[in-house]
Amino acid sequence: MSWQVTVLGTNSAVPTPQRSPSAQVLSTEKHSILIDCGEGTQVRMTSFGIKRSRIDCILITHLHGDHVFGLPGLLTSYNLFRRERKLQVYGPKGLRAFVTHNLEMIGTHMNYDLEIIEHNAADPKRIYQDEHLEIRTIPLSHRVPTTGYLFREKIPPRKIISEKATAYNIPYTAMRSLQLGEDWIAADGSTIPNEQLTFPNRTARSFAYCSDTAYREDIVDQVRSIDLLYHEATFLHELEKEADKRMHSTAKQAALIARKAEVKKLMIGHFSTRYKDPKILLEEAKQTFEPTILAEEGLVVEI
Ligand SMILES: [Zn+2]
Ligand SMILES: [Zn+2]
Repeated sequence: MSWQVTVLGTNSAVPTPQRSPSAQVLSTEKHSILIDCGEGTQVRMTSFGIKRSRIDCILITHLHGDHVFGLPGLLTSYNLFRRERKLQVYGPKGLRAFVTHNLEMIGTHMNYDLEIIEHNAADPKRIYQDEHLEIRTIPLSHRVPTTGYLFREKIPPRKIISEKATAYNIPYTAMRSLQLGEDWIAADGSTIPNEQLTFPNRTARSFAYCSDTAYREDIVDQVRSIDLLYHEATFLHELEKEADKRMHSTAKQAALIARKAEVKKLMIGHFSTRYKDPKILLEEAKQTFEPTILAEEGLVVEI
């Protein structure tokens, strides 16, 4: 199964009839991860076939309303639907107070295991890993502490040629070391080179989500050569000063990051409400980085 990124919201600041505030879902074989949870996220999930119950983790970039106002509602819905699985919610410092105060004010006690995990937004850091996936934070420059997130698939570098494994009677317990490139010592003591037993695996998938941020050059090294970069593009470059002042990026700046990092594809979003049709932002970005697409509500990008 490929990785899928489903876009649930693309607008900055406020919801409009056409565009919701920020939210995306990354679906992999083992995980379903919600990134940001703007107002209306639950409605968009239902519209676009994302099952609430499948979400195993929520990542919040920062505590601005257009990224977090959907969270108390979603957490409360899990209570109503009698969620039993644990839910982890990651975000910058202040997230725990935001969630706790909201739930206290409405007098709701969570009947499922809700774990809030805060991180220091200034440090790039691995916040999660298992045998399939690693998640790291990407420090961003915004008016409040903000982090993007980098997702990398974890796969062994080599794949077993099953006929060879059978021919040499290699036990299942030794497969992992072969996948990692080790040779096999046969029963008669001879060495079978790894290249005769395995072939190179495909490259691991990767995705980064960077919103909200002013232009920040050190994002480049952290997202180098990844499959898909989502980068905010709130304004056209003619409003560069406005973007700087409000600590957002222009479409051209998002494209510059993508070009310097040599990513395979750029997706732009977090559009200012002033742009009724965000295609104008796409045209600007494409002049600097051609493989750019527009985030649109309901869009599913395969990685
Ligand atoms: Zn925002
Ligand atoms: Zn913001």
